[in-house]
Amino acid sequence: MEKFSGVYIDGVWRSGSTDVITVVDPSTEVSWAQIGVATRSDVDDAVRSADNAFRTWAQVPLDRRIAIVQRFTELVREHTDELVRIRCRSMGSPITSSKTLSNSNGLLEMYLETVQQVQFGQVRSDQHGSAYIMRRPIGVVAGIVPWNVPVRNELKKIIPSLLTGNTCVLKPSPESPLTGARLMDLFAEAGLPPGVLNLVTGGADIGEALVTHPGVRKIAFTGSTATGARIAELAAPTFKRIQLELGGKSAAIVLPDANMSDVAPNLLAFGFGNSGQICASLTRVFVDRRYQEELGDLLAEGAKRHVLGPALDPSTTLGPLVSKRQQERVLGYIQQGIDEGATLRAGGVNKPRDTGWFVEPTVFLNVNNSMTIAQEEIFGPVISVIPYDTVEEAIREANNSQYGLHGAVFSEDAEYALNVAMQLETGTCAINSFDLPINAPFGGVKGSGIGRENGLEGFDSYLEYHSYKIPEGMIPQLQADSGPQYGGESNGD
Ligand code: NAD
Repeated sequence: MEKFSGVYIDGVWRSGSTDVITVVDPSTEVSWAQIGVATRSDVDDAVRSADNAFRTWAQVPLDRRIAIVQRFTELVREHTDELVRIRCRSMGSPITSSKTLSNSNGLLEMYLETVQQVQFGQVRSDQHGSAYIMRRPIGVVAGIVPWNVPVRNELKKIIPSLLTGNTCVLKPSPESPLTGARLMDLFAEAGLPPGVLNLVTGGADIGEALVTHPGVRKIAFTGSTATGARIAELAAPTFKRIQLELGGKSAAIVLPDANMSDVAPNLLAFGFGNSGQICASLTRVFVDRRYQEELGDLLAEGAKRHVLGPALDPSTTLGPLVSKRQQERVLGYIQQGIDEGATLRAGGVNKPRDTGWFVEPTVFLNVNNSMTIAQEEIFGPVISVIPYDTVEEAIREANNSQYGLHGAVFSEDAEYALNVAMQLETGTCAINSFDLPINAPFGGVKGSGIGRENGLEGFDSYLEYHSYKIPEGMIPQLQADSGPQYGGESNGD
């Protein structure tokens, strides 16, 4: 059994409570690692340490902060194999789809590039005189993340915090806590000062201790809609900023003129990728009733082509779900789809392997948008095809959802597709593909959350505006300083 510490405060590993989280490999059901769990007093110490570090870190010039993140990026590349193996053995994502981790490198590069475009200062004048408007970091950020994309989930909280001059306390998911712990060492090796980044491992109780802590100024959360609502409630009395990246039930609208052979690979990639454990998965597919069978056949063939197997086996294309609980939950939804009258075209409730928490990639046809499988987030490899008679009906029903994270529209006429996309209530929408450039702001509307990650806009909620009345004589100097640098020029150390 490999042992990890789960509490990292002020640059020092701690033993935490007497409790441990045992990490079980979802492919083999073998327990292989243990990590320590934080206490409430660890949470208090972690926030205090981050608050102390904020006083100096906020003054560190941007180019110095960038240099540390650049060094960290190199270290992530050097440690990719190790991090990928931890990910495979913690949540079952196949080793072949190392895309997620290479994407994490793309993510880091995107942050490093876009932070240089942030305008940290600006002069504005009118008949009352002039004001210098500064954007300053806000303080301690609590990053609370789920298990579905280890490394990437953590970095989406840590990096924008650090680059903008905030400090951070990370709470990883109890299902996949190990990559968060490894990242602490890599940041220390990259030269991040103690206290700027801290780790408290645990479950909902540790999450709530962070959310309610008076020293935390912002919650950067990714997870389920139910937890997001709870966090919003808990954060309200202390007026913390909340950024919530929540669940989804994203619709793909296949317009009548679309070429089904072009559409199907996109739906398969984003319906079954990561065994469907992606918030933006395209799980509701609206198709003109006349083409449902054609598309259904292509999706069923794609589902049957998948090789289910252990995450570390290079021939595996689809891994298990993260836990037995998740496997049972997803199988329950599939059974409900059958019971509510949808047509099962591929997959089903059979457990495809004796060991491991696998679910067969499943395709339902003739789904009605009011069915449970069309309304609730399944977070498993299940695609629901919903036939429509008019495009207006497809748009209306796509919007008939508590969620509004992502979407896609497919057509031979990209302009028409964009017009339809603009009628969807979602944060992002792809045209004739399933994803967007990494620097496009990402986040949801309605039950899919509040705020945006990625791109220049991804830094907005990490900065606060402060306005200062200034004498006219200071304007030229401040205008010269108003570029992206906050905190003066680097002395290079
Ligand atoms: P979850 O909400 O159960 O847990 C997420 C994190 O919140 C975990 O670290 C958990 O320990 C913590 N937590 C749980 N209860 C808490 C509480 N009361 N207070 C504070 N923290 C608490 O979600 P999950 O099952 O780990 O992840 C799956 C969900 O995440 C799905 O709904 C998925 O759509 C969503 N997700 C969203 C995005 C996005 O960008 N929108 C990305 C990935 C995953």
